[in-house]
Amino acid sequence: MRIARFNHGRIGVVVGDAQLVDITEVIGEDAAAWPPQGTVRLIARFAELRPLIEQALPSLPRLRLADVTLRTPVPWPNKVIAYPVNYHDHGREMQAGYRADVQGFFLKPCSSLSGAGEPVELPEVPGREVHHESELAIVIGKQCRGIAREQWREVVFGYACLLDMVVRGKEERVFRKAFDTFCPVGPWITTADEVGDPTQLEMKLWVNGELKQHASTRDLVLDIPGMVQMAAAVMTLHPGDIIATGTPAGVGPVKNGDTVRIAIDRLGEMSVPVVQGTLGRTPVFEKPYTPDIIKQR
Ligand code: MN
Repeated sequence: MRIARFNHGRIGVVVGDAQLVDITEVIGEDAAAWPPQGTVRLIARFAELRPLIEQALPSLPRLRLADVTLRTPVPWPNKVIAYPVNYHDHGREMQAGYRADVQGFFLKPCSSLSGAGEPVELPEVPGREVHHESELAIVIGKQCRGIAREQWREVVFGYACLLDMVVRGKEERVFRKAFDTFCPVGPWITTADEVGDPTQLEMKLWVNGELKQHASTRDLVLDIPGMVQMAAAVMTLHPGDIIATGTPAGVGPVKNGDTVRIAIDRLGEMSVPVVQGTLGRTPVFEKPYTPDIIKQR
């Protein structure tokens, strides 16, 4: 099943290539509720709700995906976990002396989440580059802590495309990755049963139609079971928690007017416009910085 959020707090199921069914009422959610945790509850109660949804789907009206604005599927999770330098080629281009398997993870604020139908808003950081990072997102389905590696499938709900946007520099990593709209996730969540084996997913990212990143999840340094196990070793994971799994080589700057497109096998694709915002100026980025990226291949 493919679960989307759209328009103003509506929750839907994607059907076929181009349609969506609104299931907000079927699952007993109020689109206006705050905080917007309807999809967290849906994920937590999915085993119980899935038969109700499947039964209701044929009789509910269908909307065209082209007519709705897709929002981020889980806007208010407990946390967004992110693994740095988790592909060797990205480690080489950044000249990083570590990899995620021995470095651990960082967190992105949930307020940085945005959706497929929303722009990435660049902060006012003259003298700095804002880069795209193309990533697979894992969405957690069950509360867990201290799990064995073999248990990873039991706690993964599904997957999505994710852009880990970042201001390049040497300042605090979280600070550089925390701006609003710096974590587009979408276009929806595809449940794990529809993805099958997630260890061979091809991922591509284009800027204005030019292919910039192209990799397979088979090249991950710390693999998906390892990432889930490591996160759950440290923290209790909750339904709806998101894991950004790291980016391959090919990161680079985006600017006002660009379009960033990400596609992952079986998870769909999203194209997000990049716009220059008027917020975000701080003393932290006053000193100009240009990253020294060593082009791979
Ligand atoms: Mn990243």
